[in-house]
Amino acid sequence: MSRRGLLYFTLSEIKPRIWFMLAGCNFRCRGCFRPARDVDGTSLTPEETLKKAEQACLNHYGELATEAIITGGEPSISKEYLLSLIKGLKKKGIEEMVLIFKRFICRVLLMKRK
Ligand code: SF4
Repeated sequence: MSRRGLLYFTLSEIKPRIWFMLAGCNFRCRGCFRPARDVDGTSLTPEETLKKAEQACLNHYGELATEAIITGGEPSISKEYLLSLIKGLKKKGIEEMVLIFKRFICRVLLMKRK
């Protein structure tokens, strides 16, 4: 079972949107200001991460988030973890997701199956 360090969640005040700040990065940008590059965070499986995210959203919003942003650090260090996290978020009703990789931002609209 894959695990990643999670530093913290950030919950938006604008709308139910959750940021996942994952620990660890295999890149070395000059001028990096992210603590995520060097700090380990709390080691969690994707299922544990989703459970904590759900609890945080219910405590703060009283409902689950509809948008998620996954960043770090580098989200793709563990593909297995990242894919499980994305699939789990989709199951929990996330409709739009933004992945922030090294220098790229990828916006994903998750379509509901009928
Ligand atoms: S990808 Fe992000 S976390 Fe990694 S070194 Fe660059 S700025 Fe820092």
